[in-house]
Amino acid sequence: MERKVAWETYSNEDIAKLDAICANYAKFLDNGKTERECVSEAVKLAEKKGYKDFAKLKAGKKLKAGDCVYFNCMGKAVMLFKIGKQPLEKGLNIVGAHIDSPRIDIKQNPLYEESGIAYLDTHYYGGIKKYQWVTIPLAMHGVVAKKDGELVDIVIGEDPKDPVVGISDLLIHLSADQLQKKASVVIEGEDLNIIIGNRPQKVDDNDKAPVKSAMLKILEEKYGIEEEDFLSAEIEVVPAGPTRDFGLDRSMILGYGHDDRVCAYAQIDAILSIDEVPAYTICCVLADKEEIGSVGATGMSAKYFENAVAELINATGDYSDLILRRALAASRMLSCDVSAGFDPNFAGVFEAKNTAYLGRGVCFNKFTGRGGKGGSNDANAEYLGKLRKLMDDAGVNFQTAELGKVDQGGGGTIAYICAAYGMEVIDSGVAVLSMHAPWEIISKADLYEAVKAYRAFMLNA
Ligand code: MN
Ligand code: MN
Repeated sequence: MERKVAWETYSNEDIAKLDAICANYAKFLDNGKTERECVSEAVKLAEKKGYKDFAKLKAGKKLKAGDCVYFNCMGKAVMLFKIGKQPLEKGLNIVGAHIDSPRIDIKQNPLYEESGIAYLDTHYYGGIKKYQWVTIPLAMHGVVAKKDGELVDIVIGEDPKDPVVGISDLLIHLSADQLQKKASVVIEGEDLNIIIGNRPQKVDDNDKAPVKSAMLKILEEKYGIEEEDFLSAEIEVVPAGPTRDFGLDRSMILGYGHDDRVCAYAQIDAILSIDEVPAYTICCVLADKEEIGSVGATGMSAKYFENAVAELINATGDYSDLILRRALAASRMLSCDVSAGFDPNFAGVFEAKNTAYLGRGVCFNKFTGRGGKGGSNDANAEYLGKLRKLMDDAGVNFQTAELGKVDQGGGGTIAYICAAYGMEVIDSGVAVLSMHAPWEIISKADLYEAVKAYRAFMLNA
């Protein structure tokens, strides 16, 4: 049961559409290196298409079929809705992805100087192989919330004229002991210290940390922030530089945060391409905190999605708790997250018949989980049967996969959280090479197929 290579099915028209989508995706990825930046980008794109901020609508304003609204959740998660012809009680067609990606976060008390070098101390976020994050150019993105309520945006290291920062590694000449260590401890969590400066600037003769002093001066002059402001800052250290075409044939994309911004972008592109009034209300959820368990007020486990549906029931008719429950239980969802792409260099961890291959289209994972499907949402066969027909009718190239060999490892997504409402949910996404590495690789064809799949799903599920 080998699946088709998507590239072999394309007309010139397909290639033109694929190129346009991938160029826009690269811009999205470059402008969205944090969950906050992704929300800003998504809102910008949605507003251009006429979506309105629900929180800014007149109190009591009623919504009708065809109306488009978004809910911004603390600037870190966002949901787009287009109201359908059917009442919400009949369920929504939902696509959901996450916009947080593995990275290195600056600690709340981060700045110190040692042996004439100024550092920022960090705590990594999500599952990373720490040794991959040293000796590469890094950028700092985030916000500093000042006591007076001002929010200062920070992006350092993306403009080619900007400096970058980074983490050093031990020189090979002195690595005899280090190279005997297990890969998980070659670089340890507390070793992920970001180098930010080396030039002293004494504030007085007694200054014992003149490089740190110089850093504070720069922070003050450039951003108006003082050391204590780090206490209320969220600064994320991410790979510096732009998304690139990958491969001599430009068939792939090298980028930071394909997991899961490639699915997030495919969803945005798909929902914003829908000009007609859909049969059922369609929804695109972009959630935060998936990489650390979907927790917190902006993670999928929070109630913002349920609350938004409640607001929409109220805005399109008469609200009741029973209608809300019926709407959620009757919904259909694609939990859109990346899949492990088959890597011939590491063939031993994959089971070749049940693996996602780059270039063979959007991937459906009936289940994820680990150790006997533990913790996974195992989608219903009936739902998969319906989706197979839907995808075939829409001419979508798709494949099915598991996350590696049985008992080799595993992972999870937001699928099980939404399935708890009783709705039909299945995982569906784009295959990635080097997942969670600073630079991940996807096939352009798989992104194109994901956009087609999500559009067809929202209109026809
Ligand atoms: Mn993911
Ligand atoms: Mn992930």
